[in-house]
Amino acid sequence: MRKTKSLIFEIGKAGRCAVDLPTCDVPEEEITTLIPQEFLRKNPAALPEVSQLDLMRHYTQLSQRNFGVDSGFYPLGSCTMKYNPKVNEDIARYPGFALIHPLQQPETVQGALELLYDMEQYLAEISGMDAVTMQPVAGAHGELVGLKLIRAYHRHRGERRNKVIVPDSAHGTNPASAAVCGLEIVEIKSNPDGSINLDALRAVVGPDTAALMLTNPSTLGLFETKIEEIAAIVHEAGGLLYYDGANANAIMGIVRPGDMGFDVVHFNLHKTFSTPHGGGGPGSGPVGVKSSLIPFLPTPVLTFNGTSYGLDHDRPQSIGKVHSFYGNFGVIVRAYAYIRALGPDGLRQASEDAVLNANYCLSQLRQQYHAPFTRFCMHECILTSKEQTQHGVRTLDIAKRLLDYGYHPPTIYFPMIVEEALMIEPTDTESKETLDEFIAVMRKIAQEVKEDSTQIKSAPHTTVVGRLDETMAARKPVVRWKG
Ligand SMILES: *Cc1c(COP(=O)(O)O)cnc(C)c1O
Repeated sequence: MRKTKSLIFEIGKAGRCAVDLPTCDVPEEEITTLIPQEFLRKNPAALPEVSQLDLMRHYTQLSQRNFGVDSGFYPLGSCTMKYNPKVNEDIARYPGFALIHPLQQPETVQGALELLYDMEQYLAEISGMDAVTMQPVAGAHGELVGLKLIRAYHRHRGERRNKVIVPDSAHGTNPASAAVCGLEIVEIKSNPDGSINLDALRAVVGPDTAALMLTNPSTLGLFETKIEEIAAIVHEAGGLLYYDGANANAIMGIVRPGDMGFDVVHFNLHKTFSTPHGGGGPGSGPVGVKSSLIPFLPTPVLTFNGTSYGLDHDRPQSIGKVHSFYGNFGVIVRAYAYIRALGPDGLRQASEDAVLNANYCLSQLRQQYHAPFTRFCMHECILTSKEQTQHGVRTLDIAKRLLDYGYHPPTIYFPMIVEEALMIEPTDTESKETLDEFIAVMRKIAQEVKEDSTQIKSAPHTTVVGRLDETMAARKPVVRWKG
């Protein structure tokens, strides 16, 4: 049953009030003397007048309309919606972190600078890079910063390289970042097995190649085994390799982008290192580089002279600042807490569990859903609704039906080179029992498709609203009540 509820405007009653304040016992200043007439409302705001309990229920129910990893399984591929341990929140709220100001003198915030400095070291170690900047605040922002670094590197060497090679499986932010950076995008087609086509790569590299942007494991959840050969092809042509680290949850402590031949990498702390994400909130996209790119890093650069930490603004070759202050500090504190809690063995274990969980889902569902790739997957697996489309049911319908069973749907229709894709990323934090329940529901839906798909095609039935016009909902949201 769809849960319908009156809007707060509809339950409002004139004169009802959530808080009773005592009458004011000092003379009240006339509002008209404080605010110029022209700025005053002509009519009072049409706010609902409700009791405190109604008000409380209104906001509590609104909060329950949201779906988060704290409310249920969230296998949204490529997004790594793993659980964010609550201790990370406690630590980010320590007054020593939460109440300092970014304009304080470095001598007074040594602990915070030490934390940032340590994070740079940890991420450099995990990625096999020589230096890291914590300043970028999202994966896409990291891409832009990384490409600016690459551009600065080539310019410094007096080379005019303006082409960025991107495989057709790439996340949309890769070509978008290249375009924003003023670079030209050259797309290469993947092999049928999802890997990079080396001949296609050889055919496009040349003296104008600035970089190849690659995600490994790829957005198909597959590890690019020929990565060393790929790196050699690009390097021989004078280009650099950019690593989109959104899928780093599969490789922590196992293999390092720096060792694979990458020159620049971004991390998504809000994916791999268990900090909150979704809803456009603050993220963090640190960028790591090999030594040849260090001179170009954004300012300020953190320094440590053996006794104290500082900020170096005097970097003549730097690409400059890319964000206010030093990035999203609160997010970085959460990721720091996560890394410290797990340690090197724990991080490796997390990646191993993530890969195991994805392969378990793949193996348990490939009877019911078509699996386009035969290899073992990494931390996420791709299925399609090829079988189901024969019964007139599309991937979108399956995603909507999952909502009725209380699950956030997997990523759908991405990567775009896989038709009717369902991209499941169970993450490392889910138990086998949770995966088994999800698998049972996915199988049940596959059964429903065969027997009677009417419930699926009209799903969801249990949510506050049913199927939205998704384009209109995004482009022209109606967020205002009109009585
Ligand atoms: C999430 C993601 C990005 C972009 O990261 P944001 O932090 O959302 O900007 C880039 N590439 C891939 C493969 C991703 O999954």
